[in-house]
Amino acid sequence: MALPFFTKPKHTKPLLNRCRDDLATKMRLKYDPYYHVIQAQQGSRIQLGGRDMIMLASNDYLGLSFHPKVVEAGQTALRKWGASPTGARSANGSRAYHIELEEKLAAFLGREACHVHSSGYLSCVAATASFAQKGDLIFGDKNLHSSLWDGIRLSMATVERFAHNNPDDLREALEASSPAATKMLVLEGVYSMEGHICRLPELAQLGEAHRCFTVLDDAHGLGVLGEGGRGTAAHFGLGDQVDILCGSLSKSLGSTGGFVAASREVIEYLRTNSKQTIFSAALSPAQTAIASAALDVLQNEPEHRERLWANTRRYRDMLHSLGLDTWGSETPAIPIVLGSKERAYPFWQALREKGIFTIMSIAPAVPAGKDLIRTAISALHSDEQLDQIGEAMAYAVKKVGL
Ligand code: PMP
Repeated sequence: MALPFFTKPKHTKPLLNRCRDDLATKMRLKYDPYYHVIQAQQGSRIQLGGRDMIMLASNDYLGLSFHPKVVEAGQTALRKWGASPTGARSANGSRAYHIELEEKLAAFLGREACHVHSSGYLSCVAATASFAQKGDLIFGDKNLHSSLWDGIRLSMATVERFAHNNPDDLREALEASSPAATKMLVLEGVYSMEGHICRLPELAQLGEAHRCFTVLDDAHGLGVLGEGGRGTAAHFGLGDQVDILCGSLSKSLGSTGGFVAASREVIEYLRTNSKQTIFSAALSPAQTAIASAALDVLQNEPEHRERLWANTRRYRDMLHSLGLDTWGSETPAIPIVLGSKERAYPFWQALREKGIFTIMSIAPAVPAGKDLIRTAISALHSDEQLDQIGEAMAYAVKKVGL
């Protein structure tokens, strides 16, 4: 359907023309796999376009956003504190619920202190932008999330991208750098598109040897990896080599918001120097209480993680038995690599036809030749749903002629 403004004459404002040309290009692609409107959701079932479908792309890995204790905590917080955090904490004050979550998260992650923000994106920007400055050197895995790149860019430091999850390439870059430079190393615990676990022991050790301040975004590792779901550093039994842990509350903790956890002095520096922390409204009462209750459930009910991993193994085996390429994913975030948009689009469409909701991701969002369907498994998927997903995958494989 043509948008009405495409028929209007070109605008006199060049910036609006640029937006219009960009949109016109996208419309010509004749597919619309993004910004769907979902009419209803209950667990891993959604309703889209009047049809019941299975959600196979949610980051709610443990399904805690539907856990009765989590929902109840959100409702109680709303009644007690109202809907809004009313402003930035630097000016309007922290609330007891912020402190409670921060202390709990810091203890869970084995850090002295923690600060929560209204989004994971903001936390990741803050964790990078606030600590590096012009003249510093930042080494970043080339597949980092865009929030980290934004923070890195804001810092004005010089950037060195190293090959994805590749210690040899990082070593080379570090050895070629000035020993006198102040350095930061930025990594992700689990790379969300690829499902790869960071080669943290080797990478963090290199960082340590070259006196890097190391930032680890564990948005997709928290709740999934490590003893009790403590994340990627815990998975490898590492602690001190990572100076900052940051991430999101919107994945395994079933809420929204983000966190930065580190030593007390680092968090104090963040609170007094980070623009994202000082000038943005706080995490809301309900979202804070939801994350806090989810953290309790994560610690008290290990069955959700057990179910997540059982589902992950079964699903991954099924994809491999169909000959599908999962890019070596080791986690519940499992891509199906199809290699071109000409294959990815009909595959995505075939799954949708069979009632399976997934996300298509094509170049330049992924490297050329890695066009893929992003899927994510959840503890909420039932055995029957996994069967239905298997049938849909077999159908898509046949339809695309793989
Ligand atoms: N880091 C990573 C690795 C992510 O995948 C995301 C979200 N997709 C974020 C940070 C940002 O988190 P949020 O969506 O909570 O803003």
